[in-house]
Amino acid sequence: MTYNRDMKLYNTMSKQKEEFTTVQPGIAQIYSCGPTVYNTAHIGNLRAYICGDILKKTLRFNGYQIEDVMNITDVGHLVGDGDDGEDKVETTARKLGLHPLQIAQKFTDIFMNDLKRLNVIPAKHIVPATQCIDGMINLINTLEAKGCTYRTSDGIYFDASTFPDYYQLSKGSLEGNLGGARVALGEKRNINDFALWKFVSPNTIQKWDSPWGVGCPGWHIECSAISMQYLPVPFDIHTGGVDHIPVHHTNEIAQTQTATGKKMCNFWFHNEFMTIDGGKMSKSLGNVYTLDDLINQGYDPMHLRLLMLQTIYRSVLNFTFTALNGARENYRNIVTALRRHQASTTPTDPQIINELRHAFTDAINNDLNTPTALAVLHQALKQPNSQDIYQLITAEFDQVLSLSLAAAVSTEENTIIPDAINELAAQRLAAKKQRDWATADALRNKITAAGYQINDTVDGYTITKIN
Ligand code: AMP
Ligand code: ZN
Repeated sequence: MTYNRDMKLYNTMSKQKEEFTTVQPGIAQIYSCGPTVYNTAHIGNLRAYICGDILKKTLRFNGYQIEDVMNITDVGHLVGDGDDGEDKVETTARKLGLHPLQIAQKFTDIFMNDLKRLNVIPAKHIVPATQCIDGMINLINTLEAKGCTYRTSDGIYFDASTFPDYYQLSKGSLEGNLGGARVALGEKRNINDFALWKFVSPNTIQKWDSPWGVGCPGWHIECSAISMQYLPVPFDIHTGGVDHIPVHHTNEIAQTQTATGKKMCNFWFHNEFMTIDGGKMSKSLGNVYTLDDLINQGYDPMHLRLLMLQTIYRSVLNFTFTALNGARENYRNIVTALRRHQASTTPTDPQIINELRHAFTDAINNDLNTPTALAVLHQALKQPNSQDIYQLITAEFDQVLSLSLAAAVSTEENTIIPDAINELAAQRLAAKKQRDWATADALRNKITAAGYQINDTVDGYTITKIN
């Protein structure tokens, strides 16, 4: 159903909200930078895909058809995030004694399952970099023919000085690029030059023949090559996290624009970062959570999705368990109120329904303002109980929000585990981790006494109600 096609979207390139238009009428062509599949995506990574999903669902709500592509980085992303170090996928493969493609498959499967549980619709084309090597070699050939590359002892590099508009996306904010000033240039001519093709050591597993010698592609070339293979130049929207602005996306632009003489895409869509407890997520701080970590602590993926929607995609989202508990509470309140509306046969004045519909549409079409859209949802819930409100929220608003609200309403209420029980179970897990078995047993007894059973699993536990 189309109510309003006027949609404003912030464009990192122009640094302002613009009226959204597409190259082909009614079709939105989107490229998303996919994950590097060497470990399980953390909830910060997942924010990038939930934000991209809200964008696509909003476009669909407005009547657009979506033509989308996402790469899977299964080669080329080096440990140092630059042009040095071992390949991330290959490093994990060595540690676990598996082939890099087995590692890539394992973490791609986990990632796709996470997206499914978070109601993120996968892109129509999901393309592993290793399946697009010929396209990358062709593109490097084109760049070489244009005189924009040079050879060093370890690879073929893009000469950034041949692309005067290099800072068009980062607009002189040298953050990220300045990193190059601190590291030795080595054989590179300019700090912004980057590898297109890397020669590899004899023990490298993933390597291919090329006109320049045996090697593997650099990290940035895959996104230019894959987007050019599946979409026209320019396409409509390119998505990714803000960390990609100064280097990865800047380099993608340099490659595509040099090769084609055209701009890569019309809109650059970047989600801000998720922080944890006010700081960076990092393995060494032990504060990197995956979706399974949260599920094992009794949360539902929809609690995380709602938490994400409570903040606009362009603001930093600080993850805390207090905030996640708040989102869980909010979700339960929405579902409880929807149950009351569903049970009612009283109609709502169609004009009120229309006003709510327009307020919701205006919110999401204003650069995906999901917090305001959720405020409209709560305003709707405050109306006298009515099937019409239930329909408006579950059949229309939830097309965009994708919070599985109709399914949650029909779920038996007694399958919901109370917060107090979840809290005891989380304390028990913490006690077990510290090998404090006495406390863990005492907590299990408390949980059983309250009428719930805790079942240990390989990586956590599940809780069920004792009937
Ligand atoms: P990667 O697998 O490292 O290439 O990252 C996958 C996606 O997650 C990219 O679009 C990143 O920009 C994004 N990303 C990484 N860390 C975070 C974070 N803490 N918050 C939000 N997005 C992130
Ligand atoms: Zn990319």
